[in-house]
Amino acid sequence: MAMKNQYLIDLLETVKKRNAGEPEFIQAVTEVLESLEPVVEARPDLVEAGVLDRLVEPERQIIFRVPWVDDNGKVQVNRGFRVQYNSAIGPYKGGLRLHPSVYLGIIKFLGFEQVFKNSLTTLPMGGGKGGSDFDPKGKSDGEVMRFCQSFMTELCKHIGPDTDVPAGDIGTGAREIGYMFGQYKRLRNEFSGVLTGKGLTYGGSLVRTEATGYGLCYFTDEMLKANGKSFEGKTVVISGSGNVAIYATEKATELGAKVVALSDSNGYIYDEKGVDLACIKQLKEVERKRIKEYVNTHPDATYTEGCSGIWSIPCDIALPCATQNEINKESAELLVKNGCFAVSEGANMPSTPEAIEVYLNNGILYGPAKAANAGGVATSGLEMSQNSERLSWTFEEVDAKLKGIMTSIFAACDSAAKEYGMPGNYMAGANIAGFLKVAEAMKAQGCV
Ligand code: NDP
Repeated sequence: MAMKNQYLIDLLETVKKRNAGEPEFIQAVTEVLESLEPVVEARPDLVEAGVLDRLVEPERQIIFRVPWVDDNGKVQVNRGFRVQYNSAIGPYKGGLRLHPSVYLGIIKFLGFEQVFKNSLTTLPMGGGKGGSDFDPKGKSDGEVMRFCQSFMTELCKHIGPDTDVPAGDIGTGAREIGYMFGQYKRLRNEFSGVLTGKGLTYGGSLVRTEATGYGLCYFTDEMLKANGKSFEGKTVVISGSGNVAIYATEKATELGAKVVALSDSNGYIYDEKGVDLACIKQLKEVERKRIKEYVNTHPDATYTEGCSGIWSIPCDIALPCATQNEINKESAELLVKNGCFAVSEGANMPSTPEAIEVYLNNGILYGPAKAANAGGVATSGLEMSQNSERLSWTFEEVDAKLKGIMTSIFAACDSAAKEYGMPGNYMAGANIAGFLKVAEAMKAQGCV
């Protein structure tokens, strides 16, 4: 979609020049600016207040050395990041990604998206993101612990329960959050809700583990219902087999669908009868093994090397839950050709701009990440509330709140899309609704 508004065209040019070499960040900003064209026309006061000029620049970017000693006594050095993107509506909030592909551009794109996502949750949270190019895969528990302690030794200078509250993301699960929390507590002599996704014995919230996957299905269910459809009896393909994919599989199955495929970064499994989730949980959550092991105990299932082939499996609904840009134009065209009618994103920015164009041109119901996967951070927000009042809510209570939030997010996307003349375009709706709250707050707080 080409932009016509000269102010936005010029702004995007500045972003491209200033952030050369960071294609993911430029991709995320381009999508949002394109969606905001009708808002910029309708709200010159926001342009006048410089809201957009400020929003495309993070408030603070921290890059630091993370030295640690491996099991052979050798010094290893990784690079750590925290991008404190925007604090207009609350303390910075967003996960920590541990993956070898991490560099500043990835963290900035994730931080930028987080600002709008957190705004959509209706909770008072600003946007941030962090991580490192450390790869937890193949490392011993001791190595992971020493890395996490070193990472937190620097990060603790920049975060706090009222300043910046990190959480998990790719490669950062309960184990890593535990080690980081322990180190923060030791260094600051303070037991506070400085991280979310904590274990249940030390301030974690019930449902946080399940939240992103469950929330994705709650959002998708709303989108389906609004269009006269449902999960019942549908065939679903889900990429990834990590935290988001596992609990999306669990909830989609509970809602009556059959999930036939899952993947990891090496390849994908296809089980026509529906995947055996207990086996996947054992392999991935307990034994930390590769997904190809699944076929050893499920001889009717098949394993195929490579990730993108998963989108050639015929399905009604696709839920990408692995990583950015995992569905390109060709994969999107295959999904359409095979009769898929809904794509809803558990991962952040899993569809390329060309893939999104294919969805929109073919009437696919498209649930964009910043709305569809907001259940994780929403439940992190609920964990912060519980930590502040030093209480723990029941599973049912948190789950009901999560469901209510996802329902309201869908309603907000739906009505913003209609109000700005793009009915059914939930991507534009999410960008507009998420933006407006942050923009009003930025305008009210003056030029800071
Ligand atoms: P996990 O680390 O638990 O799982 C990630 C999964 O995706 C693994 O199966 C992994 O395979 C696969 N994967 C990761 N990188 C790649 C890659 N480059 N190519 C192919 N497959 C890959 O992470 P999460 O489940 O937490 O996160 C998945 C996505 O969801 C991310 O985009 C994340 O930002 C997003 N998200 C997560 C939230 C959360 O609460 N956890 C909240 C909102 C969004 P392998 O094991 O082989 O690496």
